[in-house]
Amino acid sequence: MFQFRITKKDKKSRARMGVLRTPHGAVHTPAFVPVGTKAALRGISFDRAKQYGGEMFMVNTYHLFHNERYKIIGKFGGLHAYAKIDAPLMTDSGGFQVFSLGFGSEHGVGKIADIFPVSAKAPAGRPSEKITEYRGNNFVKIDDTGATFKNPVNGQMLWLTPKKSIEIQQILGADIIFSFDECTSPLSSYEYTKKALKRTHTWAEVSLKTFYGNKHPAAAALWRGKQAMLGIVQGGEYEDLRKESAQAISSLSFFGYAIGGSLGKSKNDMYRILDLTIPLLDEKKIKHLLGIGEVDDIFESVERGIDLFDCVAPTRWARHGSVLTSKGRINIRNKQFLIDKKPLDIHCACTVCKTYSRAYISHLYREKEVYAIMLMTEHNVAWMLDLMRRIRLSLKAGEFQKFKKQTLQGFQ
Ligand SMILES: [Zn+2]
Repeated sequence: MFQFRITKKDKKSRARMGVLRTPHGAVHTPAFVPVGTKAALRGISFDRAKQYGGEMFMVNTYHLFHNERYKIIGKFGGLHAYAKIDAPLMTDSGGFQVFSLGFGSEHGVGKIADIFPVSAKAPAGRPSEKITEYRGNNFVKIDDTGATFKNPVNGQMLWLTPKKSIEIQQILGADIIFSFDECTSPLSSYEYTKKALKRTHTWAEVSLKTFYGNKHPAAAALWRGKQAMLGIVQGGEYEDLRKESAQAISSLSFFGYAIGGSLGKSKNDMYRILDLTIPLLDEKKIKHLLGIGEVDDIFESVERGIDLFDCVAPTRWARHGSVLTSKGRINIRNKQFLIDKKPLDIHCACTVCKTYSRAYISHLYREKEVYAIMLMTEHNVAWMLDLMRRIRLSLKAGEFQKFKKQTLQGFQ
């Protein structure tokens, strides 16, 4: 039921086109996977996103775990039936949220480029090992068994283990699931990252064991033959740890791989990590870059052999008034747009751009009309999916480099 086939390779780089077959349909790669954090895309329906070429979506396990909603979803037979999604789905492992609650908030950093903490420092006198212990109102303790959290919503203590993460993902029933990992901060020391990596590799084995040998009756009935798992390569910005991780993860029987975690302190660090990691992974298997979705990063990563991306950016940007255009992002709040008769992007063929002016959407946004967010979300998602379609076309025509140069010129 699951298959990944490479259909064309770029002659000048590691870029390739492919088809991922899942029980809920095919995904043409390289593909962007819009994120519906809590089983909704925030501002656009899954069906509408499908009409614009969305072939797979991601839902975050953590957000259906901390409120025990996964138990209700299980009674519906999984996410597809619960949220009426007729498309392939992915769920993540919850590991990234461990990072967000712990290191992410402790170090005041997120994951992707614009928050790479070039000048930030860990609090003085606190070795990284201890930083996992406590952060403001959040509490995250990580040991070899898993992560213990204080639920930020109600203060209740939660325990997420690799076994539990896989069982929840089996109940949620997404087509592609991820092994449970520890995602370290860009500010984590080498020693801490090494320790976390060892845990991630042990957890990868526990994840696979749970996946193949689960006796939990509800889970076992749901997953068999319906899911495939990707293993996550970690190791922070440290080259030897990334290599070690790529070798450890690729020695296990995963359907494909994901590159996760902090990817260094700058975009160049991220590209360097991809350059050294990807050649160590089985070329024939699918590769997913977790949580990255800036336009330049997509081109650079496709070029290095990445097949799948997921990112909340297009929908999140829309909520902040930020709109993707062929000349870079614009903010609809700017005064000049109140009298601008042009569409959001003159080259975009989405319904929003065919119908409305920047002036109208700018007015709605200033007046806090929900419809403004819906329109910008629809455009941003459509724009991103169309970009991926054009990347695939350029690969097919052997003109990827030309298309990359052309597109990124607009973004200068
Ligand atoms: Zn548009």
